[in-house]
Amino acid sequence: MVENLGPSWYSFLFRGAFGSPNCDGVKLPDTPFTEPVQCDVLVAGGGPGGSTIAALLAERGRNVVLVEKDRHPRFHIGESLLPMNVMLFERMGIRDEIERIGMIKHGVEFISPNHNKSVTFDFANAIDKRFPYAYQVRRSVLDELLFNHARAKGATTIEGCRVDEVEFLRGGGARISAHTEGGEERSWRARFFVDASGRDTLLASRFGIKQRNLRHNSAAIFGHFRDARRLPGKAEGNITVFWFDKGWFWFIPLSDGTTSIGAVCRPDYIKSRKIDLGAFFMDTIAMCPAIADRLSDAKLLGPVTGTGNYSYRSERMTGESFIMLGDAFAFIDPIFSAGVFFAMNSAFAGADAVETCLDTPKRTRRALRRFETKTRRGIDTFSWYIYRATRPALRNMFMSPRNILGIEEAMLSLLAGDVFRLSTVRARLLIFKLIYYISSILTPSRTYHAWRQQRRNLEAG
Ligand SMILES: Cc1cc2nc3c(=O)[nH]c(=O)nc-3n(C[C@H](O)[C@H](O)[C@H](O)COP(=O)(O)OP(=O)(O)OC[C@H]3O[C@@H](n4cnc5c(N)ncnc54)[C@H](O)[C@@H]3O)c2cc1C
Repeated sequence: MVENLGPSWYSFLFRGAFGSPNCDGVKLPDTPFTEPVQCDVLVAGGGPGGSTIAALLAERGRNVVLVEKDRHPRFHIGESLLPMNVMLFERMGIRDEIERIGMIKHGVEFISPNHNKSVTFDFANAIDKRFPYAYQVRRSVLDELLFNHARAKGATTIEGCRVDEVEFLRGGGARISAHTEGGEERSWRARFFVDASGRDTLLASRFGIKQRNLRHNSAAIFGHFRDARRLPGKAEGNITVFWFDKGWFWFIPLSDGTTSIGAVCRPDYIKSRKIDLGAFFMDTIAMCPAIADRLSDAKLLGPVTGTGNYSYRSERMTGESFIMLGDAFAFIDPIFSAGVFFAMNSAFAGADAVETCLDTPKRTRRALRRFETKTRRGIDTFSWYIYRATRPALRNMFMSPRNILGIEEAMLSLLAGDVFRLSTVRARLLIFKLIYYISSILTPSRTYHAWRQQRRNLEAG
């Protein structure tokens, strides 16, 4: 079983994953599974990535089983979506349903203590004007809706059932075993396996290929408030990012009147906590007068949650009979609210790849490579900005946007998540990077200081 992977299994899974001669002589484990149920595709994880790929493949007539360890609706963090999510909802035919549960988010407001002002980016000014807004959502509601949508499209959906083991078979396919909340064992034989298990990183953890991000680390504390003061008028649903000494805050207004507040901080700061998490959170809010002011009449609802350093990436994303989607492969940082979009976008690309693998096994390698290139491109594009988000040069560029050679529009397209399609966006972002490097060189001592601070964080994390 994968849990007890020995060197020969490792070599079968990875070196021989595309049927190379290297897998000759590898012994298959002889653990019998009781009556595995046959299916085309088994998806582990009913979050946005898993539910989306299950819906897409089931709609195309595939026999799909979607297995979720929890029961919907269940809490999940990650409430701010991007305009490019709206494009995907439209393609899935569920845009109206999402609009009913979401708070309209027209843009992003940035507030920096060093600049004494706020700057708002309206998505309507991005290069592609077709998706001028996004949504803020309760993830419990969104994820349940997507899960039910997969069922409506024909996927077999199972909740309260945790996938435990995945055994990849010589010649393709996988045997999957799981157990239900009641302790009942379940097993399937699938032609293809999709790991959409989120931060549980089912395959990456089992294979021992999950790597801490060496270029970035941060941790978060978050809670929900009633009566937080929102922006007036049309901007009411905008997300606000407040930079402060220890990191940055998100302010995400939700349609039920509550507001999600989270602090994303350096791990050394979080580790310095000596008091209870709720009190620590309120003390942290007090360090940022701009957000403290917006919360002056607000009441904290429910518990405060902390998440440790969450920046990681798996060494691989695909194998002959599997792909990883969304957080099951990697997660960097929430500053650009791109996690749900990445998970869903990789599900779209993944559905095409899985179809090719099932229908034309000869093209498996090429289909998986295309899927991987596309998925990595988005993550790498955002990573460049995430790694520099707290550097003065980048902050200055966000706080004093100028549309020289169309770079402000390109920044908006980036903030909208439009980094996969338009080459004009990528070209203009190159100019943005060039300006960033020039302005970093022009302020050497500030750049060095920020770089040193970042190094210290990484060492402390
Ligand atoms: C502090 C913080 C703030 C964030 N804010 C944002 C934001 O504002 N906007 C945004 O877009 N993203 C945000 N994200 C990221 C976002 O939460 C994720 O990127 C997104 O949920 C990924 O979707 P997914 O489908 O890959 O995984 P998930 O949504 O995590 O879904 C995975 C599912 O798999 C299930 N599962 C796990 N293991 C098993 C198993 N063995 N068997 C069966 N089921 C299993 C889990 O129960 C879960 O339902 C944030 C992340 C963090 C840490």
